[in-house]
Amino acid sequence: MNCRACNSKNLDFYITSKSQLIELGNFNFYICKDCKSLNLEASFSIEELKMLYSKDYPLFDMRRTWGKYYKFVEFEMQNVVKRRINYIKKFTSLENKFILDLGCGDGSFLIGLKNYSSNIFGFDIVKLRKDIEIFDNLDSIPYKFDIITAYHYLEHEENPRIIVDKVYELLKTGGIFIIETPKFPSFGFSIFKDKWAGLHTPRHFVVFSKKGLFTVLQRFKILKYSNFSSYSKYILYGLTLFKPNEENFIRWTIFMFLLYPIYTFSDDILTIVVKK
Ligand SMILES: [Zn+2]
Repeated sequence: MNCRACNSKNLDFYITSKSQLIELGNFNFYICKDCKSLNLEASFSIEELKMLYSKDYPLFDMRRTWGKYYKFVEFEMQNVVKRRINYIKKFTSLENKFILDLGCGDGSFLIGLKNYSSNIFGFDIVKLRKDIEIFDNLDSIPYKFDIITAYHYLEHEENPRIIVDKVYELLKTGGIFIIETPKFPSFGFSIFKDKWAGLHTPRHFVVFSKKGLFTVLQRFKILKYSNFSSYSKYILYGLTLFKPNEENFIRWTIFMFLLYPIYTFSDDILTIVVKK
C-alpha cells in the first residue's frame, strides 16, 4: 500500500481500531512518514462496500436513524445546507451554475442548491432520490461543472488521487472544488485515539493531514484552507460517544451542550477550496 494521499511508500504501522457502526472486527491504520496522513489497511469489493453502506448505515437516512426526533435533526440539516451555500458564495455565485455534489447521500444539499440552478447533480454509491439525477460512475457523467463539492466524501474513497484526477477533468477551467473532511492529527484524535469517529473504521480509507490534502490537490490553485465545518463540530464527538439512534437522542443532545466549550474550538475538520 502506498499513501492514499501523497503516494509515498514510506508507511509505518500506527494504530488498530475496531470497526464503527458495524461489527467487522479490527483494522490497522498506517501513518505516512512523508505527509503524516493516516491510511487504512483494507480493500473492499463493490459488494463489500455496498454492505458497509447498507440499510444499517445510520448516516444516510436521518429520518430512519432519529425516528420521532427527526424534526430537530431536519432543522439542523437545513442549517448545514445554509452554511455550505453561504460559504461557497464567498468564492463564486451559484446562479445557473452546473454543480456536482460527490457523496450526496440523501441529497438534502442538492435540494438547497435547486433554489439557485436547475443544473444540479449528485454522485453516490446509493441513489436515495429520484427527483435529481444521481450518478454512480464518474466516468459516465456527460457534463462539465462550475462547482464540484465533496463534503465528507473523499476519505471514503480507496483511491482519492484517482477521484481528484476525475474531478479535474469534470471541472471547467476556473471551476471550483470544495472539500470538507476529518483532519489528522487533530484535537479529537488526541483525546479519543482509536475510538475517534473521524476514523469511521473501516469506511475512511484515509484521514488527511493538511500536507496530504495539499499534495492530492497539487494540480489546483489553493484559494482557502480552514477548519470551517458545515456540520456542528459536535458530530464527531457525538458519534464517538453514542450510537446515533432515537433512543440516544436525549443523551446526544445533553452532551452537545456539556461539551460545547471543548469541541467548538477543535480542529477536527478541514475545509479546502481550490480552483482549476
Ligand atoms: Zn502521504
